[in-house]
Amino acid sequence: MTGPGAGVADGTQGAGRSCARTQEANVDARTEQLFARARAVKGFMPDDEGAALYEAAVRAGRRTPGTGTIAEIGAWCGKSTVYLGAAAEATGAVVFSVDHHHGSEENQAGWEHHDLEVVDPSSGRIDTLPFWRRSVDGAGLAMTVVGLVGDSATIASRWRTPLDLCFIDGGHAPEPAWADFRGWAPHVALGGWLAIHDVFPDPADGGRPPYELWCAALESGEFAEDGACGSLRVLRRVGPPGGAR
Ligand code: SAH
Ligand code: MG
Repeated sequence: MTGPGAGVADGTQGAGRSCARTQEANVDARTEQLFARARAVKGFMPDDEGAALYEAAVRAGRRTPGTGTIAEIGAWCGKSTVYLGAAAEATGAVVFSVDHHHGSEENQAGWEHHDLEVVDPSSGRIDTLPFWRRSVDGAGLAMTVVGLVGDSATIASRWRTPLDLCFIDGGHAPEPAWADFRGWAPHVALGGWLAIHDVFPDPADGGRPPYELWCAALESGEFAEDGACGSLRVLRRVGPPGGAR
């Protein structure tokens, strides 16, 4: 096997990872081109997790061919956006990519994930929007991906469209992470998917909130596990929001 899925399907990439679903990867030339684009984008998603995200999005897009709706919460410079966009393009879905583009707490100066290159010199603030736009336009995904620039919880409060997939990768501090979960998870359609990034069961590997969100989703009984790759966890909605099954 060659192409973007290579090294994932046979388990050779990322010791101890279980990315079992990746055999399903569709590695046609366009997908391969988009994976190469995604890999080149500045960001926080390992290649094998990106491929697994793509596959989850393909499953979601196929659920409602030609009319699928995917929401991405937390885009940064558009790395995960391009993986999602590749799946959306292949299935006729649309990705709504939500980010205020000013970075999370952990991206600010003095924190671990700060990057001077994304600071706008005129304002002194992080502004990843120009990077995100270059990623999306450069990949030829402008008709497939819609950017929603603003606060995630504010956008969620007015959102009405059922989601085939919601990918949560926004702020990882407790307040923004829970706001994303409470604001967006209820919009996942019955039979749709919820993916959460940076889920680390061992606190030594990373912060708690994404893991706690994943636990809460499972404990609610509304979601069932449907795949994992590295810190990416994929869940499927098996019961309606509100707990009643
Ligand atoms: N998915 C990206 C990484 C996202 S990093 C990748 O593949 O590389 C987290 C992002 O969440 C940052 O870009 C930050 O600006 C955004 N974010 C944090 N809190 C937010 C909020 N309240 N509303 C909108 N975006 C937010
Ligand atoms: Mg992440």
